[in-house]
Amino acid sequence: MDEPGSASVPSLGGFAGVLDLPLLHVGKVRELYAYDRPDGHGPAGSALLMVATDRISAFDFVLDSLVPDKGAVLTQLSQWWFAQLGDLVENHVLSTEVPEAVRGRAVVCERLEMVPVECVARGYLTGSGWVEYQQSRSVCGVPLPDGLVDGSRLPEPIFTPATKAAFGEHDENVDFATMVETTGQALGEQLRDVTLAVYGRAEAVARERGLVLADTKLELGRRADGTLVLADEVLTPDSSRYWDAATWAPGARLDSFDKQFVRNWLLHESGWDRGSGAAPPPVPAQVLADTRQRYLDAYERLTGTAFSA
Ligand code: ATP
Ligand code: MG
Repeated sequence: MDEPGSASVPSLGGFAGVLDLPLLHVGKVRELYAYDRPDGHGPAGSALLMVATDRISAFDFVLDSLVPDKGAVLTQLSQWWFAQLGDLVENHVLSTEVPEAVRGRAVVCERLEMVPVECVARGYLTGSGWVEYQQSRSVCGVPLPDGLVDGSRLPEPIFTPATKAAFGEHDENVDFATMVETTGQALGEQLRDVTLAVYGRAEAVARERGLVLADTKLELGRRADGTLVLADEVLTPDSSRYWDAATWAPGARLDSFDKQFVRNWLLHESGWDRGSGAAPPPVPAQVLADTRQRYLDAYERLTGTAFSA
């Protein structure tokens, strides 16, 4: 759906200059460093320090602007969700005791072998699912009834996996059989079951708090013994589509909770030509401040507590 974005590795807002640790991976938002396990087990550097920066991506571009506190909100909201999901699936976090420079925005986590699939559950039809439905009346091979519109609630939540794309490329939706060619049948079924269980729990929790969880993307990894573990970030506005339940209606224009200001500004005010392949311009301070407030709102509505950086 989105155009492929910038392929360069982002460094804006990174922490490599202040952390004296081996930098293993730079993602659009997070950085991974080698770190010792807090329990002292395993060789030096056998765990990870996962640091969420304040970078923001839109339309598959990492923007040239930061959203203050965003990384801390993502990290702390993920922590809150991991706790809500503890009886459904184990998670990768070992400790929240981290170097001062990244306090609140980083966790020490297990180094897992990541499953190369984005595990998406959808309870509502929108985004790439809506695009696919209009062409095939199905999403990722899952047949759906006639007459649905953008924003419709699905008869039941569906598992719609996507292959993880290379940097700057867009993930590609695949059907279950195609995913199983990579994962094998048993792991594929486990991924589907865990993803739908997490979505079901989270959708109910969000609904109590006045938010519709339209869809969510999970990333899972495996320990050396094969145990499947929830990794990365979970149920944040970056990985999930939340709508305000008060304004949700099928077919209505649905603003997602987080990047609405940035996306609207880029498309309608910035003068940027999305089809040009050029990087988007820097985002004005007010748009960044409004965006920051949306991330804080999501945190505070879900957790019921005020955010403190
Ligand atoms: P996207 O969100 O589209 O996947 P990205 O891949 O560029 O973007 P980030 O989310 O910024 O990446 O970086 C996090 C990276 O860390 C991801 O590649 C993710 O798969 C990986 N990761 C997360 N948790 C673990 C873990 N416990 N062990 C190993 N890798 C992990
Ligand atoms: Mg990611």
